[in-house]
Amino acid sequence: MILLTRKAEFAAAHYYWNDHWSAEENARVFGKCANRNGHGHNYTLEVTVAGQVDPVTGFVVDLKKLKDLMNTEVVDVYDHRHLNHEVPEFRNRIPTTENMAISIWERLHGAILHQLPGATLHRVRIYENPDLFADYYGGGPA
Ligand SMILES: [Zn+2]
Repeated sequence: MILLTRKAEFAAAHYYWNDHWSAEENARVFGKCANRNGHGHNYTLEVTVAGQVDPVTGFVVDLKKLKDLMNTEVVDVYDHRHLNHEVPEFRNRIPTTENMAISIWERLHGAILHQLPGATLHRVRIYENPDLFADYYGGGPA
């Protein structure tokens, strides 16, 4: 088995807010990130697939197809959007880096299974900035 990683970048806005809490509690836990006008990040996404190298092509997957899937399933949906307001999964899920990793996994896992034969999604890594990233390998309790 070999692991292959493809990167993509997008920009998006978000804020952190738990509807079950008071404004004071949100401010205490999330600080500046609780400002409901939101703020933006330039995210870097790394999607790693696992598979065998095809002896004929030397590829694990069709790289163009992987790029297209990352674009249609994630980048086109998240890029230049306000995640809380415009991306369905974040209506009930706080768009933290951790939750974004899980959501991106959910978006890509089935698509890769169905459209990239021989490859499986191995890891989603998302950087909120160069100093902070989250990894998700699926499977476990989200
Ligand atoms: Zn933020």
